[in-house]
Amino acid sequence: MKDAEESSNGKRRFRLIRGFRDLLPPETYLWNRLEAIARAVFESFGFGEIRPPILEAADLFEKSIGEDTDVAGKELYFWVDSPRANKGIRRVRAVDKNSAMRSTSTDSKVRDELLHQASSGAFDALAETDLVTLRPEATASACRAYIEHGMQQLPQPVKLYYLGPMFRRERPQKGRYRQFYQIGAEVLGGSDAPAIDAEVIEMVMTFFDRLGLTGVELDINSIGHAADNCRRGYVEKLKAALEQVKDKLGGDSQRRIETNPLRVLDSKLEHEQPIIEKLPRLADHLCDECRTHYAAVKRQLGLRGVIFKENWRLVRGLDYYMRTTFEITAKGLGSQNAVCGGGRYDGLVELLGGPPTKGIGFAIGEDRLILSLQESGKGATAQGRDVYIAWMGEHAYAAAVRAAKDLRSAGFSVELPPTELKFGKALERADKLGSRYALILGDNEVAEGTWTLKTLADGTQQKFTEPELLEFLRKP
Ligand code: AMP
Repeated sequence: MKDAEESSNGKRRFRLIRGFRDLLPPETYLWNRLEAIARAVFESFGFGEIRPPILEAADLFEKSIGEDTDVAGKELYFWVDSPRANKGIRRVRAVDKNSAMRSTSTDSKVRDELLHQASSGAFDALAETDLVTLRPEATASACRAYIEHGMQQLPQPVKLYYLGPMFRRERPQKGRYRQFYQIGAEVLGGSDAPAIDAEVIEMVMTFFDRLGLTGVELDINSIGHAADNCRRGYVEKLKAALEQVKDKLGGDSQRRIETNPLRVLDSKLEHEQPIIEKLPRLADHLCDECRTHYAAVKRQLGLRGVIFKENWRLVRGLDYYMRTTFEITAKGLGSQNAVCGGGRYDGLVELLGGPPTKGIGFAIGEDRLILSLQESGKGATAQGRDVYIAWMGEHAYAAAVRAAKDLRSAGFSVELPPTELKFGKALERADKLGSRYALILGDNEVAEGTWTLKTLADGTQQKFTEPELLEFLRKP
């Protein structure tokens, strides 16, 4: 078995599945701090949190992301969620367990037959909703929820943000995982006023600024809209220009001339760069409305003091994306340096069965944000205790339990050792845990009513009564 091995006691030892990881303390402290800042910033812009489920109908994403994209085409984790399939799989597993002991050819025949029955039975009776998937992103879920809960009846636009795990069966590498976390926001409904686009971008940049993220670069572009006098007309011209240089392009780009010519502009291949630079540009083919909208977005960004770079090659391959697109990169991430991608998608809610609805949003890759903070020395995870209570003696223990309760309810983090330790040993532990103070409580201190507080950084000690102690600790 690939993800398990035998341990010394002969039991199977379980391991993580490839591409998945555990997030552990103290690093999770950084994750929580970052998420708290995200919530605070987004709420200060009037966004409310949505928590959609992790499991959704598979075709929600096939429709929204497009079946010919990598994400929906080959990276979805999906399976048949039906009682018949479940039962079939349980029977196969039962045979597998028996075979491990007996391993006869009859077993394997039975197994194959059951497997066949399980899969064909499941697929025969497959209803659309039986095919479920772990979500690869959350924009489609937010749009589904907007429609499902009649949010168009609320004051528009509806401003939502989300945080949580996403799943894509990609090739794992640094900054690319099969379970990764995104923080995103969507503005749904109302108008497509350029101020909305600018405010959404301002919000992400404010968040990154609050985090102290370094080397942040914002690229923006307008991809117009899917009409003959705008993007569609441009794509025809692009296609013709690409046909002219086809022989000089790599295999991927050659294929994309037919399937999705805009995506050729995404190419990172060195030898294609000079060719791409000479291709016609979408900015020169925008219709009047899209051109005006783009100019206004840039003006609005200027008004908000947001620094950006125009990047005519920043595109999205799907029809419902329109006008504003943006991407943010950060330092210390190598080739996977995009930490945020976003854009306007006015046609998406309608594509998912809702009324025509304006929409714009973004998704931030939280894993990469954390990596970038760590690489630039901003990933402090110190989560030492405020107070370690070094107690000795029965009376002292009762006082220690009370002190721990009082200090914790005053907001301090307190470590109370469950069994008695010699003071020397206790102070050693306090130090290892990164405690700021050790509160020394022996039966004598309790009898006298004066407690000793040792500052571990410099070894100084002070005596306090119980109320004085709290007052001292509360001082910043
Ligand atoms: P997307 O939803 O593909 O536009 O991605 C938005 C952001 O999510 C990207 O800019 C990345 O920061 C992050 N992201 C996407 N896929 C992964 C992955 N497999 N592992 C880690 N982060 C990812």
